[in-house]
Amino acid sequence: MTDLPPRPFAVDHPDVLDLEVAALETRPGAVLLAQSPFYPGGGGQLPDRGSLAWNGVVRDVIGFEPTAAGLWHLFGDDAVPTGAITLRVDPAFRQRMCEQHTVAHLVNSAVYTLFDGALLTGVRMTDSDEFSVDFDLPKVAPEQLRAVEDAVNAAISDDRPVRAFDMPYDDAQATAGLFRAKSVAPPRQANGLIRIVDIEALDRQACGGTHLISTAKARRVRILKVDNKGRQNRRFRIGLGSD
Ligand SMILES: [Zn+2]
Repeated sequence: MTDLPPRPFAVDHPDVLDLEVAALETRPGAVLLAQSPFYPGGGGQLPDRGSLAWNGVVRDVIGFEPTAAGLWHLFGDDAVPTGAITLRVDPAFRQRMCEQHTVAHLVNSAVYTLFDGALLTGVRMTDSDEFSVDFDLPKVAPEQLRAVEDAVNAAISDDRPVRAFDMPYDDAQATAGLFRAKSVAPPRQANGLIRIVDIEALDRQACGGTHLISTAKARRVRILKVDNKGRQNRRFRIGLGSD
């Protein structure tokens, strides 16, 4: 037995955005659900937005508390839900997260390749057409920045399928290049496995978020700017759909 929260249902079922489920437990302003289409956040990906409803009462979901039993969904008043709970994820916001997350992998892949294995130090997704990805890098020349941008846009044009599979955590640790973040590794799951996201014939890395099903579902990218965030940290500001 373990106290780790289970992998979010949304990670394996990113196409399910509406679901009706029974509550495991309730308290004022919150309901615990064993299964939920909401991604609770993590790995730089923001928590999903959306609503829950019961007996004609509709509330926006404003937060989550992952537990070993399931996911607490929080809303902003003291009501206590009863009966079946209808969950609805905001599809536009989820799409934005999947697009930014997939592009983050492409940027990561290009930087890892072009900068001799440079590692990720942070991802900041946003509710806009701009987001940022940080890397452990001392310096980025203008032509290197263009090379990263070109590599990302080429991968988008190539329409590469994005798939995921599980492998034993220890095997993943022993395989070069699967852990791409400098100081945080995705957690070992309760079953001892870890999820690997594969962009066909381009990139593989451990990740627990939601992604597009193919790179061509992302809009073209511009790297708007690279900011110095410390001597050994560079922040790539990414613009989507700006061409
Ligand atoms: Zn990912």
